[in-house]
Amino acid sequence: MIWTLGLLSVLSLLLAAWLGWRFVRLRRRLDDYARTVRRAAWKGNTLLPRDVPALEELSNAVRDLVAELNDQFAEVDGERGKLAAMLDQMTDGVLIADANGQISFLNPAAERLFEHYDAVGHTVAEVVRQHQLVEAWQRCQESGEVQIESVELPGRHQFLQLFAIPERHTSGSLLMVQDLTRVRQLETVRRDFISNISHELRTPLASLKALTETLNEGALDDPPAARRFLQRIETEVDALTQMAAELLELSRIESGHVPLKLKNVTPDRLLESAAERMRTQAERAGLGLRVEAGADLPPVRADAARLEQVLVNLIHNAVKFTRPGGEVILQAGAERAFVRFAVHDTGLGIPAEDLARIFERFYKTDRSRSGGGTGLGLSIARHIVEAHGGRIWAESVESQGSTFFFTIPTAA
Ligand code: ADP
Repeated sequence: MIWTLGLLSVLSLLLAAWLGWRFVRLRRRLDDYARTVRRAAWKGNTLLPRDVPALEELSNAVRDLVAELNDQFAEVDGERGKLAAMLDQMTDGVLIADANGQISFLNPAAERLFEHYDAVGHTVAEVVRQHQLVEAWQRCQESGEVQIESVELPGRHQFLQLFAIPERHTSGSLLMVQDLTRVRQLETVRRDFISNISHELRTPLASLKALTETLNEGALDDPPAARRFLQRIETEVDALTQMAAELLELSRIESGHVPLKLKNVTPDRLLESAAERMRTQAERAGLGLRVEAGADLPPVRADAARLEQVLVNLIHNAVKFTRPGGEVILQAGAERAFVRFAVHDTGLGIPAEDLARIFERFYKTDRSRSGGGTGLGLSIARHIVEAHGGRIWAESVESQGSTFFFTIPTAA
């Protein structure tokens, strides 16, 4: 915002200096023409109409003057066009109002932000319709000083910041409005992220502290107990290592540092390969694991290793949340320009209120909060799918099972 304000001020100063300089030049030229006209007129008193050279001089001077004026108008028009294009393209809203608050100009961004498309001639209060912002404008008018005000628009979850700047020539003001919604959201995400990560670290670190203290306080002299404690320490360290690895992976994917190696990938082969990797784990959990996908499906344009990572993640969850005797089914089907993959389980299911949130970082349902897992797996899966131009979502009925779907564009 400050940068934009600075840019606008520099631009208006340059424009003012340029216009001033043109004006001085024009004055000089006009003085010259006036002298020529006076001379011709004086000659005219005595010599006209026979003094043809004087008449010619006069007509040349008028022609030059017209040409000069046309050039100057074209240049002013050009500069005005540039300024107008810049104001049109700006994402910040700009609004100019006179001393009574009547609006004489607003750019398209301001029209969008205030949802008012016919604002010229209306007042600031009618267009802005937000009492804190209107009061900031009033304070600016009364004090002649820049005023800054921020508000969250109720119902629209939009966060706006207004700069009201006094305009001395017209005694009115220039209002600049910035949409800070995205910045605010990012701040919230970052705050939540830090609080989540501290929370997630606290539990394993507290366990490690307790386990080492117990060992120190005598358990070391009891070898069977010491071995048990060491095993638990190892489990906690493994969980921390996994969390560190997943966080690193997530941050690399989010920052775009993992370029996708896109190739044509056959959906049924991809499912078979992921199923093969997870077969032992499923068998050990007493679950059936099968693939239902035709070989005639169109190939998808994908990074095979990354998509397999998504599938393995989903199958891993399905195995984790399904009781022995249950089943995990992998499916794929064509859906217009996409192939839709599905990982279906007959497990515990996910409560309806959690369904929309399980793709958030660190989110776990109440049931799985105490168990292992970082709550990062689905977040990573979502990023990978979205990087492919696809979508991921889940459907579930509690105690009947869950199905995770994701779409990937076909190669064609
Ligand atoms: P985690 O590492 O904890 O499994 P995820 O991001 O993979 O993290 O999953 C987030 C949460 O979503 C899990 O903790 C669990 O509560 C829920 N969840 C994911 N998949 C399933 C599933 N197939 N059945 C039931 N709950 C699931």
